[in-house]
Amino acid sequence: MEMFQRLGEHEQVIAFNNNATGLRGFLAIHDTTLGSAFGGVRIWRYENDDAALTDALLLSRAMTYKASLAELPCGGGKTVILLHDGLRRQEAFADFGCMVESLSGRYFCARDVGIADADLAAIASTTRFVAREPSPDLGDVSEHTAIGVWHGMRACLEFAGISGKIRVAIQGVGSVGHLLARILHREGFELILADIDPTRVAKVAGELGARVAQADEILSANCDVLAPCALGGVISLKTVPQIQARIVCGSANNILAGPDAGEAMAHRGIIYAPDYLVNAGGLIRGAEYFMLGRSESMTSIAKIYDRTRRVLNLARDRAISTAAVADDLAESRLKRPKRFSNLTWRGNPKQN
Ligand code: NAD
Repeated sequence: MEMFQRLGEHEQVIAFNNNATGLRGFLAIHDTTLGSAFGGVRIWRYENDDAALTDALLLSRAMTYKASLAELPCGGGKTVILLHDGLRRQEAFADFGCMVESLSGRYFCARDVGIADADLAAIASTTRFVAREPSPDLGDVSEHTAIGVWHGMRACLEFAGISGKIRVAIQGVGSVGHLLARILHREGFELILADIDPTRVAKVAGELGARVAQADEILSANCDVLAPCALGGVISLKTVPQIQARIVCGSANNILAGPDAGEAMAHRGIIYAPDYLVNAGGLIRGAEYFMLGRSESMTSIAKIYDRTRRVLNLARDRAISTAAVADDLAESRLKRPKRFSNLTWRGNPKQN
């Protein structure tokens, strides 16, 4: 495919490479119509460079849609860093921070899959434009994400009229999946957990008295809600027929392998809570803290409940998929001529 055809609506894509530290990856800025591009940094062992670029393009686009739907004054971006044996991790992340700093606030990064506290600290050693955690003022971003998913799940359960003993299957008990499991446990839900990391899943299951399923069986678990909280692309035309849950609602970005998977779920009567709608809690917290100086964001995150209800109602009334409704709503805030605005941060961003 031609390069610019591949970039689609993306404003800017940086391929970065530093042979001294082994830092390699892609930083994709999808859209800054509404403000600076916010988006996490992911580190992953990709099959090839092409797969990494595709991930950066899809994830950054989802961030734009997430920010738009959450009515935030920011756009979407994302970074993927290639995990490989030659990576000198600490130096590479500090090096990456220099690049982020050079963008003068056009891109603001945070934690995503595979990023440890030490990685964030290394990035923060060279740039102001990173949400460093843990931080008592900012709070735990993943926890805010998990709370947002819970609000979305509540809306779906009410919409579906499901109550009583509710069973939720969670795929991936990393940062968000674990915290979501804790919330659901407190609410009295029954849990089935799966993770490709057997030690991690055993630990979380032990803490919460939950059942463990094999990672390759969790999508077809007998449950009311399926919560994908691992990687994207898990709901496809191949997996939709296996789903027993009535609701799919989780934190994973780009849960759908393609738009046809959203249609297929709608066709089967499965209620799908669009990923970027319900997993916006962390972004809401980060944007409100760094851009608006808010000390807390729980009221804003609770609005995910109302937005989810709205999307579910509109999808029912228009007889289209929830994914299509969410895309329409998000795009309606972006329909302005695009400009390369000067997004240089005025003053210092709030210190971590
Ligand atoms: P994480 O790396 O802490 O956890 C991911 C977990 O999924 C890990 O435990 C991993 O072993 C597991 N996993 C990977 N592949 C799996 C598979 N096939 N089956 C079962 N388990 C598998 O990441 P996280 O921060 O918890 O993020 C989880 C998802 O939520 C990602 O898609 C991320 O992009 C998305 N998300 C996270 C945040 C946030 O605040 N952290 C915000 C929005 C969206």
